[in-house]
Amino acid sequence: MTENANETGAENAELPRLGPEAEADVLSRIHAGREAEEVLADILHGFRDEAALVSSFGAESAVLLHMISRIDKTTPVLFLETGMLFEETLIYQQYLAALFGLENVQMIRPAPEDLEEQDPDGTLHQENTDGCCFLRKTLPLRRALEPYALWITGRKRHQAATRANLELFEAEKGTQRIKLNPLADWDAARIRAYMEEHNLPPHPLVGRGYPSIGCAPCTTPVKEGEDPRAGRWRGADKTECGIHYDGEKWVRTPAARGVVSTFP
Ligand code: SF4
Repeated sequence: MTENANETGAENAELPRLGPEAEADVLSRIHAGREAEEVLADILHGFRDEAALVSSFGAESAVLLHMISRIDKTTPVLFLETGMLFEETLIYQQYLAALFGLENVQMIRPAPEDLEEQDPDGTLHQENTDGCCFLRKTLPLRRALEPYALWITGRKRHQAATRANLELFEAEKGTQRIKLNPLADWDAARIRAYMEEHNLPPHPLVGRGYPSIGCAPCTTPVKEGEDPRAGRWRGADKTECGIHYDGEKWVRTPAARGVVSTFP
């Protein structure tokens, strides 16, 4: 008797997973040197409804949003609406979503019960930015990402020293998820060129000296020659909001006002 794949069950056999770190390494090698939009298209096709873009709708966000819209307008786009954003960002978000025909933008907000318990008067950022970012960004995003195996970020190596070694794909420590950074090797000039080529509208605050835009209370304009992220948490020993930290740094240390992780 001739054995075929069905009889042996081999056709349906699942390959063992390598684990996120090895998978990220393999994916980085496979896609090295390819155009960002090609990588995005392949990954969105391969991961189907298990991939999401996380976008701040900030200074450089239009590039990835535009690419995504050309590949699949139903791609989930997770927008962290912290409740502390500039009015200009909220308007820009609605404008870009309509312009690009994005069909699945999801507003990710802090849980009302968390806010009521930990930041009832909205002043936590004045005394504990780590705790505030955890409450308004990290925790809501972790909850929102639960259904996904991969998320796409807009981070770039040129943005900060903390991002200098950013890989195209990376494993998210503490979870089984993979992160894709399609623009990891793009610099400011390339971003500008792409936006000009495709006639993409800039965030309204860019022309007013904000090359990096976060929450209103924690973002200031940047002077010529300063690091583009110098206006984020200016004067504080803080350069990242915490959503990209991993391992023991994933949950930062929100000691003041008793802000603690309620996430398992
Ligand atoms: S950036 Fe500022 S206001 Fe926004 S979540 Fe972090 S500390 Fe709070």
